[in-house]
Amino acid sequence: MNNYELLAELLLPDIDKTPDYYENLYPERALAEGARVTRIAPSPTGYLHLGTLFTSLVNRITATSTNGIFYTRIEDTDKKREVEGGIEDIIEGLKRFGISIDEGFISGNEESGNYGPYQQSKRAEIYQTYVKSLIKQGLAYPCFCTAEDLDAVRKEQEQNKIRTGYHGKWAKHRDITYNEAKDLIEQGKTFVIRLKSPGNEENRITFEDGIKGKIEMPENDEDFVLLKSDGIPTYHFAHAIDDHLMHTTHVCRGDEWISSTPKHIQLFKLLGFKPPKYAHVSPIMKLENGAKRKISKRKDPEAAVHFFAEQGYDSESVIEYLMTIAASDFEDWRRANPTADYRTFKFNLKKMSVSGALFDENKLNDVSKIKVASMNSDTVYNKLTEWAKEFDTEFFDILVSSPDYTKSVLAIDRDTPKPRKDIAKWSEAKQYFEYMFDMLYKPCIQLPENINRDDAIAFLNEYKKVYSSDDDRSAWFDKIKSLCPALGFAADTKEYKANPENFKGSAGDLSTILRIAVTGRRNTPDLCSIMQVLGKTRVMNRIDDMINSL
Ligand code: GLU
Repeated sequence: MNNYELLAELLLPDIDKTPDYYENLYPERALAEGARVTRIAPSPTGYLHLGTLFTSLVNRITATSTNGIFYTRIEDTDKKREVEGGIEDIIEGLKRFGISIDEGFISGNEESGNYGPYQQSKRAEIYQTYVKSLIKQGLAYPCFCTAEDLDAVRKEQEQNKIRTGYHGKWAKHRDITYNEAKDLIEQGKTFVIRLKSPGNEENRITFEDGIKGKIEMPENDEDFVLLKSDGIPTYHFAHAIDDHLMHTTHVCRGDEWISSTPKHIQLFKLLGFKPPKYAHVSPIMKLENGAKRKISKRKDPEAAVHFFAEQGYDSESVIEYLMTIAASDFEDWRRANPTADYRTFKFNLKKMSVSGALFDENKLNDVSKIKVASMNSDTVYNKLTEWAKEFDTEFFDILVSSPDYTKSVLAIDRDTPKPRKDIAKWSEAKQYFEYMFDMLYKPCIQLPENINRDDAIAFLNEYKKVYSSDDDRSAWFDKIKSLCPALGFAADTKEYKANPENFKGSAGDLSTILRIAVTGRRNTPDLCSIMQVLGKTRVMNRIDDMINSL
């Protein structure tokens, strides 16, 4: 055995497999030409946030558009930062937003697929096998530096204005021999395994980023850590091994990883792997005092996906909105295909924003109003009650106390060819519909300035005599018009506009009085439908209440 082989045995005596074993265990995927294999690789160190959802969507739609595979992999190498229930929250969260998972973690505690385990903490032996092989080839070595040693090196580099880091002559254990390593181990010293980087800072490497285009950077010359002292890999090493063995074709990840990409490309090369295509997704931004900044988990409530659930944004609305910021050609497509499933949109990474899209709540609301308007009343009933059950139990009790009544409320101006687009999130529904529910209704009697009290009372009394709950829209308005002449109002709008001084007001003003009597508002959806749903007793009572309170 040569020095490297001896070192490899000394450092990883329990590893008895070779990389070939895993290469055979995880053969190429049988996929059609052009099919892309993508993944999301979250660390369960917090709850699902908008950036992860966004990147997952981009990966999912990339796979879907090419008949490929989208899988999940849990990057749980940092046990200290892990939060309980983190995996479940992320996976279930993705599913709730309709991001289907072909492979990997398909729930909080269940994985499926032939390329697992899909959890890095269960893959230690795989990483160690490849590290052992690198050590044997003289491409990796143990480093016994303590945190203090590294600190001292950094200080010296800073003093001498040298680029900090473990590279070149600063890489103390680069040429460690078997005997030296053996001595240190016998003294009980711990070690990490570092890559012996063949790179040179003066060289440039280029790669074609799927989103950002050609990127040029200095070659990596850092002897970065592959395995930590507990035998657990760093992100860099795990990424190379996992994405190779799981046959990821496209690594679409946050652009904070761009600066590490030279390390990754170098690793793939030294390991003899074909590198994947990289596509670095810009973060979602926010405007603060006129300046763009990254959306922040600390400062922005909307960074946590839970915010959207709590506000009652439908998951489809959020996804639809994220699609508009993911692809600059999505909105044109949507206009041409208003009812199509977004999953049939041909997504192209090149249409993604290079600089980071702005999170725009108004836009989300607009997109969401269109989405909610496209839902039928049964769907709205189910979604609204599901939301209220969790976030507004008072409203929930009211909604479910008479489901048929609630559904007819929700059907007003909805199950029509041109539904109203006025609800963006379920938390708005209570205020929006409050006059439809006696328990929520607060009468608010305020006449428009141009209407005097006596005319309003006279109209309401006359209207009570002619009102029928069976009236359809035209019969309903004809009745209001029929009352106009006797009350001094214009039945015909044109006539009124031509000579307003001849009238106290128009039929429209009378319907406003009625609207205020019945709903307490000046603007509502179709009043005739509202009155039909409220029913005769409620309508009459409310008209009487208004007459009495004027
Ligand atoms: N665990 C890494 C992260 O959460 C994954 C990056 C990647 O997609 O490769 O940032």
